[in-house]
Amino acid sequence: MAVLLHEGDLPGDLFAPGPVAVDTEAMGLNTRRDRLCLVQLSDGRGDEHLVRILPGRDAPVLKAVLEDRARLKLYHFARFDLAVLRHWLGITATPVYCTRTASLLVRTYTDRHGLKDLVRELLGIEISKAQQSSDWGAPHLSEAQKDYAASDVRYLHRLKEELDLRLAREGRAALAEACFAFLPWRAELDLAGWPEVDIFAHG
Ligand code: MN
Repeated sequence: MAVLLHEGDLPGDLFAPGPVAVDTEAMGLNTRRDRLCLVQLSDGRGDEHLVRILPGRDAPVLKAVLEDRARLKLYHFARFDLAVLRHWLGITATPVYCTRTASLLVRTYTDRHGLKDLVRELLGIEISKAQQSSDWGAPHLSEAQKDYAASDVRYLHRLKEELDLRLAREGRAALAEACFAFLPWRAELDLAGWPEVDIFAHG
């Protein structure tokens, strides 16, 4: 198990067939203002790959992996990552599975749906969020930053397995599929000017 840092792009498609876990780190939470700094990926076999996004440099290999329609992308809160990837890399990184959305649909007994909460309850593992708000645009990332960034994709395959069991148990797998399919459009609405508006709401 290793955390590998790549400058500017992936050196090749390094991933085994099947779903790939994806997360992003940006300079902040304002998608249009705050540039994309890092994209993390894992195929669930043990290694995590961190790709630094260098301003002005294209990342064709990374983009090809993210745009591969044959490869399911696992996110936690896909809505944010999809908007960031759309805005900063110009890509639609689908098809989508979102562990946060799945959690909302099955863990109706709680309002705690953070990645840390899910990993604790479903996998019995404690992860640190201490580096969440740090300078992802710095010229050198610290070991703590790299480990934090990697931990955000390390558990998504295992979470999907647990969440899929619960979605099946509660009869909500089809509802989850429909929500996942809508997420790229929810991200598009965020970028198009309806960030916090529920266009389905009345009044
Ligand atoms: Mn993250």
